Amino acid sequence: MARNIDAKCRQCRREGEKLFLKGEKCFTDKCAIERRNYPPGQHGQKNVRLSGYGVQLREKQKVRRIYGLLERQFRRTYWGADQKKGITGENLLQALESRLDTVAYRMGFGASRTEARQIVRHNGILVNGKRVNMPSYQVRPSDVIEVAQQAKAQLRIKGAAEAAESRGFPEWLEVDVKSLKGTFKARPQRSELPSTVNESLVVELYSK
Ligand code: SF4
Repeated sequence: MARNIDAKCRQCRREGEKLFLKGEKCFTDKCAIERRNYPPGQHGQKNVRLSGYGVQLREKQKVRRIYGLLERQFRRTYWGADQKKGITGENLLQALESRLDTVAYRMGFGASRTEARQIVRHNGILVNGKRVNMPSYQVRPSDVIEVAQQAKAQLRIKGAAEAAESRGFPEWLEVDVKSLKGTFKARPQRSELPSTVNESLVVELYSK
């Protein structure tokens, strides 16, 4: 399975903001964005003015990196969103937020999306009582997501869930940290998602 092996903090520095790719480190002052908030590389500190296309491209790369998808996977998700009724950009964000690895991460069953994805791949997550090891699986409203019995003893999962609880869970999820179990109540509304993402730029880029 192909995956993105670019250094995570480098990806944040390229996009100029925290993408929260590394778990707990992202919430400390060791975060690279806190220390060196300029693009990586020899010419990183030069002032570069982006064209309209450049702005759209950077926004697409940012969203793709937040959710840890390769170009082909991301484009496929976009096509699916474009075929659905409603606003394409909103459909895209909802499809990304409904991925099993993202739901597991938001519920705190992994310190980062990468860790949550690994837990899913290693059969550590149940959906409605059944093992699902596809990170791209689309979770539906009212689905119950749970850490599998043999994975519940893992300290990293417990630690991640407690940290997520202390930061607060999103509105569209209900999580019981003690039993490492949660319900995906509904697909998130646009107003519940971060305003730092401008999905309409992604739509403009792919509509060309
Ligand atoms: Fe990004 Fe986290 Fe690295 Fe900070 S610590 S630069 S938020 S991956």
